[in-house]
Formats: sequence, C-alpha cells, structure tokens
Amino acid sequence: PVMERCRVSSTRAKLELAFNSRCKDENTAILEELISLRHKKAVLMGYETHSAFVTEDRMSKSDRKVKNFLDELGTKLKPLLDSDLAALRALKAADGDDSPITACDRSYYQKKLEEDRFQVDHEAFKQYFPLQTVTVGLLAIYQELLGLRFTRNPELESTAWHPDVLAYTVTDVQTDDMVGCFYMDMHPREGKYGHAACFGLQPACVRSGKWQVPVAAAVCNFPKPTASKPALLEHSDVETFFHEFGHVMHQLCSKAELSMFAGTAVERDFVEAPSQMLENWCWQPEALLRMSSHHQTGEPIPQPLLDALLASRNANSGILNMRQITLASFDQAIHTSAAADTAATLERLSSELMQIPTTPGTNMGATFGHMGGGYDAQYYGYMW
Ligand SMILES: [Zn+2]
Repeated sequence: PVMERCRVSSTRAKLELAFNSRCKDENTAILEELISLRHKKAVLMGYETHSAFVTEDRMSKSDRKVKNFLDELGTKLKPLLDSDLAALRALKAADGDDSPITACDRSYYQKKLEEDRFQVDHEAFKQYFPLQTVTVGLLAIYQELLGLRFTRNPELESTAWHPDVLAYTVTDVQTDDMVGCFYMDMHPREGKYGHAACFGLQPACVRSGKWQVPVAAAVCNFPKPTASKPALLEHSDVETFFHEFGHVMHQLCSKAELSMFAGTAVERDFVEAPSQMLENWCWQPEALLRMSSHHQTGEPIPQPLLDALLASRNANSGILNMRQITLASFDQAIHTSAAADTAATLERLSSELMQIPTTPGTNMGATFGHMGGGYDAQYYGYMW
C-alpha cells in the first residue's frame, strides 16, 4: 500500500531501496554462481548456452527464437509504453515535479491514473468482495465450467497442515467418479510462503495398474476475516485467486497415465496458459456479480463501479507488459552468458526497455524467485 498510496516520494524511495535490496549480498552471489554453473553444464553437454539447452524441447525450440520474440513484442509495445509513461509523467508534473518517472513513482502513479482517468474507486470496490463470498462464487463458477462437484472433506481437513486449511473432494457430475482432492490455504501466517501459488501434492497417474487421483493445494495470502472485520479483496486479488485455482484444476483434471506428464507437468512455456485464459472470467460482469455482494448490505456492485473497472482493464498495459518483457529479457540475458553481473544487467535492461532505471544500490534479481525456482531461461512463458 505504501508504494501505491504514499504521497511523500522520499518515503516511497526509502521503501523501494529497502525492498529491492532484500538478501542482496547473499542471493546475488548465489544467483551468479548458479548462472556460471548452468552455463558450464550446458557447454559440457554440447550447447552454446543454458538457454539453448533449456528451450530446445520447449514450445519455443531455441534461445534465438525467444530473443526475437521478446524483441519483436518490445518493439510493438513501445508506442503504448511511451503513451503510458507520458500519462504518468503528466500526473507527476501536476504534483509540481516534472522529472522523469522513477522506480519509486511507478506503482503510485499507475494507481493514480486508474483512479483519476478511469474513476476506479478501489476502496469502494473492495466492499463488495469479502473473501467468503468470492470463494463461494469462484468455486461455483469452476464447478459449472468443468462439470465437477466440490464437497468439503472434514476428514482431510483434520489431518491438514494447519487448522485454517480447507479441503474438498472433487467428483465428476456426470459419472459420479471421484476426480481428486484439493486444499485451500488462504491466510498468511508466520513462516509461510509469501506468494500465491499452486502446489501439486500427488500427481494423477496409473500406479500398479490402478488410477491414482491427483491432489493439489492453492496457497494464497489473503487477510483472515475476524468477527469485527471482514477480509475484503481487491480486484487484483480476485484475479490471483482465480489464476491459482486454475492451476489446481489443471492438476485435478489430468488424464495422463504417466506422472511425469500429469497436470501442470507440461512444458514450462505452456504452464501459465490455462490459468491466464481462465483469468478472463474476472473481467466478465456476470462472473464478477456471482463472486460479490456488499459485506454489510448484501447489495450487488453498482453498475457505475463495475463499468469503471471494466473500462480500466487496459490502463497501464504498456508499462505492465514491458515490465514482463524486461524481466524475461533479463532472464535470457543472464542465461545466455558464461557469467553475469545481475544488478548491472537488470539496470541496463530496465533503462533501455522500461525507460525507468533501477534504484542505485538495489538488485531485484536477488529476490527474483523464478530464477532459482524452475523458470530459469523460461520466464518468457508468461508472455509466449
Ligand atoms: Zn501461474
């Protein structure tokens, strides 16, 4: 909230510096060692680069194709980025500062643009999205879309890893066959993974001649409701929830006989596609109405609020997509080199592509979990 809401730019700058310096010394060394080890391994196996090795059997087929893809998309996006940046700069100038947009301005003025130009009142919007209502609506939509039935499973819940975790059994509506089970671990707590994700716990497959049902968990960090305070979600949270639950369904609906091909064990540059397509439901008025009602009055979202949100869908899309291209280009740059100075590479690409330099002294690469979490040379999959 500080980066989006705080009017004092020096406070945002302090937070931006601290945030993107997290684990800088420790993780930069680890990441840079990983890069040179990955390169050595690729060369030993006869590849020019780690990216060439990784992409060979992905949809993209080669590191050069990935680079061309990112370059072409970047060129096409450039005019949109320019107009987005000009809009943010105009807002900044109206605040009496006509210097370029910096890393600590980006989120603040993006939010301001949505609210000023598109009149999206995120605070008012949230009042209609209590977690409880969103969950009921989301599960109903998925059941209807996929012809499935979800039933709470108290027995599974009693053996889950935390009392807050919910568990469901999934059955096929037509055949009544059991499809699998899923868990939902929705609230933050000390020591818990901080991002939203889906974890496969047991893959679908044939095992000793018998069908093994899949089990997966959706892990998010939404506030926990209390008696006096409901847990209200922003629209972006609803999208995240829908996205992660899409991965859960991708796991659950698997019919692969071999576990190595089960569910989300697809090529990495395809794995985000189903969830990204399913996210589109979060921009359909009918779906939004089914997932919402005012937490006090039970009223549906007023039409003007809904219209403003839908109209803002493409706000900042030049900047947001160029940021993904920058991160994907960073990933390709470090994984097509024998060794890399990660902070300098990120700085160069951010200035060149985003036209927003990184804050001196930071290295966001040190907390770019995808680089050590299985997306190395494959972050482009989010755009592919
Ligand atoms: Zn995802």
